[in-house]
Amino acid sequence: MFWGGLQNLFGFRSFAPSRKRYHLAFTATKDPVTKYLNRPEERETQLGSDHFPEIIWSNGYVPDPGAEVLAHFEDGSAALLTNSVGKGKVYLLGLSLLDVVLRNQNNRDYEAQRHYVNAFEPGADVWLLVLRAWYEAYGKDWVRLSTIPGGQRSALLLSHDVDWENSFAPGLDFARIEKANQASSTFFIQTKYVDDANSKAFFFAPKIDLLRQLKTSGSTVGSHSIIHSRGFNKFELGSGYETYSSYQPRGLGFDTASGATVFGEVRVSKELLDGEIPGQDTIFFRAGHLRVPISLPEALERSGYQFDSSFTADDVLSNFPFALPRDLGFEEDSEIYEFPVTIEDEESPGFAKRVPQALQVILANAENGAVSVVLIHSNESILKAAAEQDLLRQLPSDIIKTDMLTFAKFWRARDRLQWSLTATSVPTEAVLQVKSAEPVTGLTFEFQRPIATVTGGATMFPDNRHIVLPELAPGHSVSIHINYLH
Ligand SMILES: [Zn+2]
Repeated sequence: MFWGGLQNLFGFRSFAPSRKRYHLAFTATKDPVTKYLNRPEERETQLGSDHFPEIIWSNGYVPDPGAEVLAHFEDGSAALLTNSVGKGKVYLLGLSLLDVVLRNQNNRDYEAQRHYVNAFEPGADVWLLVLRAWYEAYGKDWVRLSTIPGGQRSALLLSHDVDWENSFAPGLDFARIEKANQASSTFFIQTKYVDDANSKAFFFAPKIDLLRQLKTSGSTVGSHSIIHSRGFNKFELGSGYETYSSYQPRGLGFDTASGATVFGEVRVSKELLDGEIPGQDTIFFRAGHLRVPISLPEALERSGYQFDSSFTADDVLSNFPFALPRDLGFEEDSEIYEFPVTIEDEESPGFAKRVPQALQVILANAENGAVSVVLIHSNESILKAAAEQDLLRQLPSDIIKTDMLTFAKFWRARDRLQWSLTATSVPTEAVLQVKSAEPVTGLTFEFQRPIATVTGGATMFPDNRHIVLPELAPGHSVSIHINYLH
């Protein structure tokens, strides 16, 4: 479009490339593509920290008088503009989605986040929300596969990190309180079997008995590495043959270690958890201190994991789960899905005093159909479990409260779903065909056109626009006949 002949179509007179534009603000406008951007954190975003002399490339446009500016950079140039041509409209964005979505998610951004954790940071999500709104504004008879099961608005995913010998017993208190509030959680367990400079070994009886109790009481279990090193992000990948009998890692200090590899931390912790807990198949990982080596997706994939929760949502500017790129690069996705941490318990003044703030972040994500992940260390259960119960009781009823593993399995099946909507010879009828490789419950479709009836065991919501599918058996194709109201 930089060829002069297309300037009239896109509605600009000139453009200027730069790596020195750090802020973007959406303009007050009725244009439908910005309809989801209602909060201040969505109306303005940061593209990179001004500590860097140069950040991502942007094109700032000088618009034609007839074009409408939907967002501008801090130098006044247009970042997003639209131009009406006949019956149609064109949109022009002066940024690459690779830079404002993927670069944030693989954490190769120029520190674009405004907070590290515990705040609402939708800097990457806004572009996905613009695309969603664009599809809904201009798609004819559009259909969307909802991000949340059961026609609900959002999901609160609960987790605990067990990274100290005295964190096992209070875990049972959390599990009990969650059960009493119709919730559940995932416990990420450090399987520390060596003494080192950071702590003594603790992964043996009676801790393992407590862990088995957690599992039988309905909690799910993930790995939180072995030595929980702050230097994990600098570890070598390792051979992939690391095993309990020969892997002898040791923390030498806060962020240094000997004999430790990424494979060792990931693979041997799984080996121990799977071996010690009846019925356990460890497929969820969270790194100690949330330090992420670029080889983590590969080590997780090759060790049989499916899910990770080692980033913060603010740091990756994303509140939707996403496929973790291989090598945290730009070329291809790994098979691992990332569920970044939204709320944690350690930042001052502590989780118990931040419940109202946490609730606001959860509600902001719920507006977008995004999720919120809560991490509470189970080192004590008097203050923190009471605070968690307080949060659960204030949660609106259309926000699901569940453990991370259950939601992650839903997300994986949803992401891999094969589906199509086919028109029939009758204008008010269509057929939705759905096939899932994995068992999945609660898949929800949203329709632009109001529906009168559905078949195939699907449930229609009172708004006539959402249908919830019955449980799908793996590998089976299901056909659902849709009758529109008119
Ligand atoms: Zn930890």
